[in-house]
Amino acid sequence: MSVLQPSVFRLDAHAAPVAAAERAERLIDPGFGRVFTDHMAVIRFSDAKGWHDAHVTARVPLTIDPASSVLHYAQEIFEGMKAYRLADGGTALFRPEANAARFRDSARRMAMAELPEDMFIESIERLVAVDRDWIPDGDGALYLRPFMFASEVFLGVKPSAEYLYMVIASSVGAYWKGGVRAIKVWVSREHTRAAAGGTGAAKCGGNYAASLIAQKDAIARGCDQVVFLDAAERRWIEELGGMNLFFVHADGSLRTPPLTGTILPGITRDSILTLARDAGMTVYEQPYSIDQWRDDAKSGQLIEAFACGTAAVVTPIGQVADRDGDFTIGNGAGGSVTDRLHQALVAIQRGTAPDPHGWLHRL
Ligand code: PMP
Repeated sequence: MSVLQPSVFRLDAHAAPVAAAERAERLIDPGFGRVFTDHMAVIRFSDAKGWHDAHVTARVPLTIDPASSVLHYAQEIFEGMKAYRLADGGTALFRPEANAARFRDSARRMAMAELPEDMFIESIERLVAVDRDWIPDGDGALYLRPFMFASEVFLGVKPSAEYLYMVIASSVGAYWKGGVRAIKVWVSREHTRAAAGGTGAAKCGGNYAASLIAQKDAIARGCDQVVFLDAAERRWIEELGGMNLFFVHADGSLRTPPLTGTILPGITRDSILTLARDAGMTVYEQPYSIDQWRDDAKSGQLIEAFACGTAAVVTPIGQVADRDGDFTIGNGAGGSVTDRLHQALVAIQRGTAPDPHGWLHRL
């Protein structure tokens, strides 16, 4: 398999940017995932040629053959990361090597071609370089969405011989409309997200398709998000549809479910664990059951719970709705440990605090 040299990345001349006034208008309250930039990065793969045709071009709709295998067998993976404007006016990515490694892991699990990590990072650097003006000021960021799908035109069930890798970018504001507030979550007893040996630790589109019915149930019950339990015993807390979970106990310890292959290894999760250890907290990556969660919340042993991920960063959980009885976490509005960890993470991402672990990747 041939590996591209960085110089192979070309910028198509016909890329026409949106006028500055129009862009400014779109950046006034961009919300999440609806405002897109002018360009996209593309790299193709085929068994015959390896990785080739790397370029940044105008963002245009795709034309794909109806027999493209992704449309039938869902061989598709993606990533989610952000480019931030720093306090000193610079721009940075947060731990992009971790996204590159996870993208490779996802590709391996889905029997897809593995994009070399330096090409993954370069594709993002090149796209942000041409679309830098789309990074909103203030709390906003440029959300980057690398993805790859099986593009071979063939209806046989087998790993595709061709893939299209792309990166698109979206200007985003706050994830939750109305700012950070404690959310209410619904515990799904009927549907699970991933089983041992399945694809739970891969960031593949199929995992999200399978989670939507449970998310729909959560919304129907007046909740914001769904909590998935493990598929074997239906007892152990796993994660939300798109965020990892943390629990803060009255003894000052922090707990999160372990990475046993059925949950996504979140980069925010890993960063929070590191920041908590740095702050001298005791952290446990250990299973936690739904019954224990309820008992601890009722007894006051559990004082806070929060969800975390790239899109929403850190979000307190105020209430839990469950078949076996609803319960409230602490005062139902979040708490100081959640706030402190949130602030510590944001300060590094925005360049207002030292970066002892070298997480910022300046552009
Ligand atoms: N779990 C799931 C299922 C997710 O989709 C995400 C978002 N990528 C996360 C957890 C959080 O991961 P990260 O912190 O890397 O964004």
